[in-house]
Amino acid sequence: MSDVTVASPGESPNAYRSMKNGFLCRCPACGQGRLFGRFLKVVDACDVCGTEFHHHRADDFPPYIVMFIVGHLIGYGVLTAETRFEVPLWLHLAVWPALTLILCVALLQPIKGVVVGLQYALGMHGFAAARAARTARNESVEEKAGVGDGAEGPRAPVYGA
Ligand SMILES: [Zn+2]
Repeated sequence: MSDVTVASPGESPNAYRSMKNGFLCRCPACGQGRLFGRFLKVVDACDVCGTEFHHHRADDFPPYIVMFIVGHLIGYGVLTAETRFEVPLWLHLAVWPALTLILCVALLQPIKGVVVGLQYALGMHGFAAARAARTARNESVEEKAGVGDGAEGPRAPVYGA
């Protein structure tokens, strides 16, 4: 776990990197753990760095984004095919619905990962509070271990005093 880099609570995570990791269906925090347990089901926490994801509220936003993207691509494709080439109707019916379905299914999970990554980076819906709580826990563990507060570890026993 020492090679896992997660943004500390003092610094806010890089939104672009978090969204890119989300698009690749990986943990927005460390980029190594899986973000999805199964199709569209976000895991409760990263199995590599432990970042919690049950805070996310992607809701209907990913489908809206996917409809926006796919609608523009397919709409442009249909109009271009109809105006520039004389495409028979059966070819339209064979290509566009199938392409729409494939693009929607292929894009939905990566886009949901982007949305979760953005929410994580912006600290929305409890992500920031969880990050702060996690830091507080880490700091208290470090204080108990004598790390980070200037103490020089366990003292050597004094014999014969
Ligand atoms: Zn992680």
